Amino acid sequence: MSVNRYGEWIISTKAHSTAVSPDRERVYSFDLEGRPISWFESDRVYKRGLDSRVHLRFRPSDSRNATRTRRVLSDREATERLDGVLAVVAEFPLARADPQVRRRIRKILAWSGKTLGEERTRFCAAYRPIPILPPDEYFSIVLQATFGCTWNACTFCSFYLDRNFSLRPLDRFREHLEQVRALLGEAAALRRRLFLADGNALMLANDRLIPIIEAAGNVFPDRSFSGFVDVFSGRKKSVEQWRLLYERGLRRVHVGIETGLDDLLRFVNKPGSAKESLDFLQTLASAKIDRSLILMAGLGGRRYASAHREATLDLLSKMELGPRDIVYVSPFHEPTPSDGGESAYAHRAAAEKIEPLSSEETRAEAALLARKIRALQPHPRIAPYELAEFFY
Ligand code: SF4
Repeated sequence: MSVNRYGEWIISTKAHSTAVSPDRERVYSFDLEGRPISWFESDRVYKRGLDSRVHLRFRPSDSRNATRTRRVLSDREATERLDGVLAVVAEFPLARADPQVRRRIRKILAWSGKTLGEERTRFCAAYRPIPILPPDEYFSIVLQATFGCTWNACTFCSFYLDRNFSLRPLDRFREHLEQVRALLGEAAALRRRLFLADGNALMLANDRLIPIIEAAGNVFPDRSFSGFVDVFSGRKKSVEQWRLLYERGLRRVHVGIETGLDDLLRFVNKPGSAKESLDFLQTLASAKIDRSLILMAGLGGRRYASAHREATLDLLSKMELGPRDIVYVSPFHEPTPSDGGESAYAHRAAAEKIEPLSSEETRAEAALLARKIRALQPHPRIAPYELAEFFY
């Protein structure tokens, strides 16, 4: 990384990005194609996804206890903010800069000719909507080898209600790889891992999965890959089959465990059990694959709260999780029809007179669960997982 100062301006040219800071209050980061990726303006943090959605996180600096605000900007707001970013960069004294900095800044200014709509059209040419990713994959290269989820019937999950599960044929997957390569351009350098989407791509039999991995590795070499799988699909592969995938570059598997309580799994119509989760997580460990577990704090409302917490902690204590494993604790927000259809969860909860936790109670439950997991020895990395903050 090279740090260059021009009066108050600081320009950091990193191997895979550029940071532009006109003063202490503002820092703007760009990928190598010149696209803004994130920026700070005093107490506001903006993140722009490849899909051109701009997320804002904001906590008023004059009020320590004020709640953090997070939201996705409207297209009009996003356009205004992006125009504002480029207007700042346009003020940079280009004539004084050395050649590398000048090249980077010119690329950023050249990007300003593209509208949000044009960028989104390019994104949509490469991808079908990506409903969710694990937080440490927001800067991976997402490759849609399959669409949807094989089960698609957990009552709390509305991510893939708009699509049936299908496999992308290999020749179409190769076209997808080229579209993604064209979209990312030089910015692919920023993304050091591959994520095989959608919800359950790793359930494919290895003789289907390996040609997909090889094709992906030919276009985006020298990267490990990861993906989601659910326990009931993952268990169908043996340790040897998972080890073969490890040898092909699979380094992390994200597993939606949700809870260690079998009754709660049944309530939300998710197949599997705590015992099956334990066996599967041990299989992954035997194959040397790092594990990410997703837990849903507040799932099952007041009725299940303490049993859910205790059974989940009991399950985790048996899993021999280490510092390379991650536990994501996601506060559960009851899905509504506006999330993508009738909420089967809400219907069932109402029918069984299950009272939801308030958002404050859910957050407190997530914090308590995280604290108790941290007390396990050895303990994994623990990270919050706010589904609404997902971006790509
Ligand atoms: S939670 Fe996982 S298994 Fe259940 S429907 Fe959603 S993606 Fe499929």
